[in-house]
Amino acid sequence: MKTIGLIGGMSWESSSVYYRIINEEIRERLGGFHSAKCVMVSVDFAEIEAYQRAGDWDQAAEAMIAAARQVEAAGADMLLICTNTMHKLAPEVKQAVKLPLLHIADATASAVKEAGIRKVGLLGTRFTMEEPFYTSRLQENGLEVLVPEEADRKEVDRIIFEELVQGEIRLPSKAKYIDVMSGLVQAGAGGIILGCTEIGLLVSSGDCDVPVFDTTLVHAHAGVDAALAD
Ligand code: GLU
Repeated sequence: MKTIGLIGGMSWESSSVYYRIINEEIRERLGGFHSAKCVMVSVDFAEIEAYQRAGDWDQAAEAMIAAARQVEAAGADMLLICTNTMHKLAPEVKQAVKLPLLHIADATASAVKEAGIRKVGLLGTRFTMEEPFYTSRLQENGLEVLVPEEADRKEVDRIIFEELVQGEIRLPSKAKYIDVMSGLVQAGAGGIILGCTEIGLLVSSGDCDVPVFDTTLVHAHAGVDAALAD
């Protein structure tokens, strides 16, 4: 089994889900006493969020590269960045280490295509929904991407930062997300990508008429696939 390397803490609410899923999946596939070989370097999200808000992506890249080097030094065989948003810096991180980077959008696009879906709705932070680093990556993988209209994007983003990354799960916010997902389905989405690793704490597949792709689960499973590959 290879060692899965994770950069976590963005937020730790979802990193803890990664850790659980990776271990559950290894036990499911190998049985017995098996558990995942993994290392996680967990950053202080207050620093990262401040860089994001200030648009200081150079400092953010430095922090990600430092964390990636720690993961490499700890003996990992691969690298997963446990947040969609910080994949904005995936090219810089990839260049700074020798570890293969398992890109969250690639893993998600594969899962969407395996389900036979081509047009997909995307929820995430404003960075993920609005900037090309994520939507282009999905498009390069052959998907058509729909995002909510501006007012809804703002609210989806607000709920992530003011509630979900702080571990707050509120019913009105769940209702809002269900409403936004239903709007995307009405606009033609055949599936919904939960493109922020905390959204799965709020909504899940039962909350939508089309398949839902939780990037945390998809990414964690991709890590396990890679750990068990020859
Ligand atoms: N975990 C989130 C994501 O998947 C948001 C936190 C962040 O801004 O990194 O995008």
